[in-house]
Amino acid sequence: METVGIYIQVPFCASKCSFCNFSSSVERREAIDRTLSALVEEIQRLPGWYADEGISPHLLALPGDSIYFGGGTPPLAGPTRLARVLDALARRFQRADSVEFTMEATPGSADEPFLEWAARAGINRLSIGAQSFVDLELGAVGRLHSADQTREFVRQARLAGFKNLSLDLIAGLPHQTLASWRDSLASAAALQPEHVSVYLFEVDEKSRLGNEVLRHGTRYQALALPSEDFMADAYEEARAFLAREGYAQYEISNFSLPGFESRHNRKYWRREPVAGVGPGAHSFDGERRWENATSAADYRMKIERGDSPIQKLRRLTDMEQLEEFFFLGLRESAGVEFQAVGRRWGREAEKTVERIIRELTARHLLTRENGRVRLRAEAYLVSNEVFQEFLLNV
Ligand code: SF4
Repeated sequence: METVGIYIQVPFCASKCSFCNFSSSVERREAIDRTLSALVEEIQRLPGWYADEGISPHLLALPGDSIYFGGGTPPLAGPTRLARVLDALARRFQRADSVEFTMEATPGSADEPFLEWAARAGINRLSIGAQSFVDLELGAVGRLHSADQTREFVRQARLAGFKNLSLDLIAGLPHQTLASWRDSLASAAALQPEHVSVYLFEVDEKSRLGNEVLRHGTRYQALALPSEDFMADAYEEARAFLAREGYAQYEISNFSLPGFESRHNRKYWRREPVAGVGPGAHSFDGERRWENATSAADYRMKIERGDSPIQKLRRLTDMEQLEEFFFLGLRESAGVEFQAVGRRWGREAEKTVERIIRELTARHLLTRENGRVRLRAEAYLVSNEVFQEFLLNV
């Protein structure tokens, strides 16, 4: 049965980490209040705004089998405001029999009463931004918590009844060494999370640290960043270590114990419907993509004026859908089904893609077995290069 994922963006943080390239910000109480009220209003008015934009109401009729509160740091909104959002969601969407319900959290952002409330409210998965278990590294990027606070947070989450915890780690932080990275991996595994995400610090102008590196500056401890070679070593170290600990890599950045793969994130890689609400939230109905006004201030202003926050709505061309099929689908270690190309996009598309796959297979970047095309593990670190081939050539 077709289902929908529901994404709620709560874009506030207690402080801004130097490596972060998300559009989250530190805001006053009043702005958080107004944004959460706007969120409730948006959920209530979705059918009208979808109709105005020509989006099929079908998306809102599908049962939701994953709900994801992301951000930002959603617990900062507090239980009262979040409960109002949950209430609006319950009125707007049907629920599937089983729902993966995730909330992102930062150690220290939620206390025991909050965690107990969250578990009672049906949230059954926490995605915890641990990032590192070395206090020097945490302090260098402006995290407000220590490694011990992460351990304590996990302990409290378990006590509150959470049986599905994911820890995020990031490689490439200032002062990180291979030895300290191994410590972080071992510390994360010692907490026995069901899921681990490993990200590599990206140098881009969207984060303060990335921007500093691009400008050859020295702020944000840019000079203490490890070398580029470190990234490849850290990534391979993480893959090998987590495999030994029983975590299967099911996506380029994601590892889980059996049965604990993220249902919500899989929807993105498999191009399944997702309805997003909140500032900057993205949505997809199978053919069209759109997003909400990115800044919380713009988003609030539009909704308070009674205007739809939806922008950049576009129907993907057949070729764009085919490109997405590969560059999203190949992220999963299970890869994509080759025959789906002919079935969905026709013989000509199949021939074009066949040529690209043959070439990438000869370069040992892809494999093709049992009807599925997969990225070779050796190609994970150069996956963008592979995806580029599908963008340029399809
Ligand atoms: S807590 Fe998360 S979302 Fe907020 S600034 Fe840090 S990395 Fe970004």
